[in-house]
Amino acid sequence: MSTTPEAAGSLNFIEQIIEKDLAEGKNEGRVQTRFPPEPNGYLHIGHAKSICLNFGLAQKYGGKCNLRMDDTNPVKEDQEYIQAIIEDVRWLGFEWAGLYYASEYFEQLYEWAEQLIRAGKAYVCDLSPEEVAATRGGIKGGTESPYRNRSVEENLDLFRRMRAGEFPNGSRTLRAKIDMSSPNFNLRDPVMYRILHEPHPHVGDKWCIYPMYDWAHGQSDSIERITHSICTLEFENHRPLYDWFIQNLGIYAPRQIEFARLNITYAVMSKRKLLLLVKSGRVDGWDDPRLLTIRGLRRRGYTPEAIRAFCARIGVSRFEGKIDMAWLEDAIREDLNRRAQRRMAVLRPVKLILDNYPEGQVEEFEADNNPEDPSAGRRKIPFSKVLYIEREDFMASPPKDFFRLAPGKEVRLKGAGYFIRCTDYKVGPEGEVTEIHCTYDPATRGGNPPDGRKVKATIHWVSAQHAIDAEVRLYDHLFRVPDPEDVPEGSPDDAWLDNLNPNSLVVLKGCKLEPALANTVVGDRLQFERQGYFCLDSKDSKPGALVFNRTVALRDSWAKATEKAGKKK
Ligand code: ATP
Ligand code: MG
Repeated sequence: MSTTPEAAGSLNFIEQIIEKDLAEGKNEGRVQTRFPPEPNGYLHIGHAKSICLNFGLAQKYGGKCNLRMDDTNPVKEDQEYIQAIIEDVRWLGFEWAGLYYASEYFEQLYEWAEQLIRAGKAYVCDLSPEEVAATRGGIKGGTESPYRNRSVEENLDLFRRMRAGEFPNGSRTLRAKIDMSSPNFNLRDPVMYRILHEPHPHVGDKWCIYPMYDWAHGQSDSIERITHSICTLEFENHRPLYDWFIQNLGIYAPRQIEFARLNITYAVMSKRKLLLLVKSGRVDGWDDPRLLTIRGLRRRGYTPEAIRAFCARIGVSRFEGKIDMAWLEDAIREDLNRRAQRRMAVLRPVKLILDNYPEGQVEEFEADNNPEDPSAGRRKIPFSKVLYIEREDFMASPPKDFFRLAPGKEVRLKGAGYFIRCTDYKVGPEGEVTEIHCTYDPATRGGNPPDGRKVKATIHWVSAQHAIDAEVRLYDHLFRVPDPEDVPEGSPDDAWLDNLNPNSLVVLKGCKLEPALANTVVGDRLQFERQGYFCLDSKDSKPGALVFNRTVALRDSWAKATEKAGKKK
């Protein structure tokens, strides 16, 4: 585990830097941050960390946080992603000071590029992308381009003609003239502009040259007068390049601070990998409830509050590591325990008949909607002669430590209190139990038998004649190992796909639910007693054909399984 929860009141390393800057009177006391996604995919829990961090710091220091699309690559970007990012940031509970697009700075960036050309610090290079890559070199440094020493006039002329659309894709680039022998690869005359005859999702067909991310990102921050440009560690060795651009342009210099990306066990986070899972149909779109995308988490039943609490708990650091998925699950369990209404639902039903219960009689029991929250009120649950119980709550020939229902054994019915004793059961042709017969003890109503006798188990149930049918989807980790990307050396690129968990989705049809669940709407938070937390599936559920998603089980079965495996060793 890379981080520990921050001790209350202590500052993380980014807050320490900001407070020092404030104490020294930098930036006229302003704190301005931004969340700068590239709209080439949907946001995931890693982005949520960055969002909580950037918006959180602005809130904490009375500053501002922008949302900025770093939309420099029209080939991979799309209006669909832009819209989704906007919605997801809002859903997480944040409002930006300004919504900006790097593409709206393209004119300014172009002028700055000419400025560098005039200063002899940028040149048009005619090498192909492959040749540029090859000549930028390995450990020892690269080879200078034969076009490096073109005159300012020739460079200006060629660059303007690049913009005017005179040259085909890939035929020329504009490169910064820095240092081909630098040990830092990023400083070896990086490409600033490439030719790309391609319309842009935000600014249309205005441009046929596009700035590279590294040329756009730092200057965009500078234009917005971002005081603290917070980014992930892989940009640490891009910082000298960003500094070089800013210094040579003589413009406002934000302070860049890097932190470690969030990685979570049993999951992949890279947009490229998520896209492959989606495109290949291995998951049901970007909002598949098994993905750690914001959309997926939302459809799964996660709340913004739980995601924010999780992000606060993991903190920020500069150490790369993986956070255990159990932390995320604990965060949602804690939140749902407070807010979810309790219901009874039998997921794998078997019929149970109370032989001595009067034919045609119906009783109603009242139960708390949420014992954690009296204001959630109470509800009525109908009870009758024929019930459904969970198949796994009955065993015909139980081992010694099975305390639930079995021939001759007595259990309590949740909510009703009645003690029931199994007298008989029937089996079908495959040996499966088809029907359980019991007697109930009317004196145990409410769960307090006058003779004080005890039972060892309480099981849930649903009255058969009142039950509503539903589909229930049980989700598990999408991958069966904590580190799915850890594949043997020399494996094919997509070897991580072999680590998919074949049981990550179990679909149960014909589940029997208590009638109060008929009115469930998307966004309701439910606890199915003894099963876990559930919500309506926002995509596939229809009135009369309800589909529920399990958000999380009541307990972490993986921790138990690993513990057991550990003990066996
Ligand atoms: P790619 O994988 O395509 O490079 P990305 O995951 O870096 O994409 P961006 O859209 O560039 O996605 O990310 C927007 C912001 O979110 C960046 O500031 C980035 O540093 C941050 N970010 C991305 N992934 C994570 C992560 N796993 N943990 C924390 N922050 C992240
Ligand atoms: Mg990125």
